[in-house]
Amino acid sequence: MSKKKWYAGALIVAALFAAGFASYGSMARKVHASAAAQQKYESPVAPRAEQVKALVNEAYEKFKTDNRGKNADYIPYLAKVDSNLFGIAIVTTNNQMYSTGDVKYSFSIQSIAKVFTLALAMKELGGDAVFQKVGSEPTGRAFNSVLAVADMPTHTGNPLVNAGAIATVSLIPAANETERWNKILAFYSQAAGEKLSLIDEVYRSEAATNQGNRALAALLLKYERIYSDPPQAVDVYTKECSVGVNAVQLARMGAMLANDGINPATGERVIPSEDIPEILSAMMMAGLDDGSGGWAWRVGLPAKSGVGGGILAVVPGKGAIAVFAPPLDEAGNSVKAQDVITYVANKLNYNLFSPASVGWKQ
Ligand code: GLU
Repeated sequence: MSKKKWYAGALIVAALFAAGFASYGSMARKVHASAAAQQKYESPVAPRAEQVKALVNEAYEKFKTDNRGKNADYIPYLAKVDSNLFGIAIVTTNNQMYSTGDVKYSFSIQSIAKVFTLALAMKELGGDAVFQKVGSEPTGRAFNSVLAVADMPTHTGNPLVNAGAIATVSLIPAANETERWNKILAFYSQAAGEKLSLIDEVYRSEAATNQGNRALAALLLKYERIYSDPPQAVDVYTKECSVGVNAVQLARMGAMLANDGINPATGERVIPSEDIPEILSAMMMAGLDDGSGGWAWRVGLPAKSGVGGGILAVVPGKGAIAVFAPPLDEAGNSVKAQDVITYVANKLNYNLFSPASVGWKQ
């Protein structure tokens, strides 16, 4: 290769990396490919790094004084968390990271965990088996609804409501509950690209007050829709909800989903490629519980909320945004996190239902 060509190639590669939001995660893994091959991975809609950085800061300033909502209090620990905590992190499929605010604070992942247990169950058993044993229909009711279990033909509803999530836990093949829990925690750590652990105080607080979830599991047993010992499945479920993450770790877990199942930080394949669309569709359908319809209408991105105050939204092929702010709305979704993600997604044309998200220009 001539020196001139090499120089031009190097420039293109450098420009692609500087772009910040790579169009495809595979780009990072193909740095050795020729510049011409590289070029086809450049997204026509990739925002510039400075643009993303500015937006993250802009959104933080714009919404930091929004004090609507209230911490969850049905889990006593959550009521005590500082309501002013606020952190935003974006991790891209080429492992760029942009963050601001309280992004080192470790909060309980809560229901966002359900996405990753679903992924593990699918990886171990295949998507069809999980679909058949849990389903994927929105319940139209609260995330912990007993009525939904009684009413719905599947009883489990979907893997992102409590009943379906407890059933999903019970599906993970293991010799006993300890092994099942260790497997789940190891998988979350792989998704985050670093070791995660339980926040013991959250676990104890939730285990002492989770009578509702125990009732859901008992009811699932009646309908033969739980696949291991119900009290033990609830215990593992309670543990998974009590895993601590900070906003950056959570965004990285999301970036792995955006990056076709490969962790952009470690390069490790965590989830089979074919499972990604099914996981994201479950998030789109039920990720914000009772607020999922409004979220799809306004934002058009697969996301999952947790009552700890986190929301994770995934932009397929591009990256993920995680926001943490404890006060929740009536449906149990963080108010500020919804504000920020809506704002950033609109500015960057991320709504998947809009042709603009794939580069359509007027
Ligand atoms: N651990 C919580 C529960 O079971 C999770 C709920 C949520 O984050 O939506 O109620």
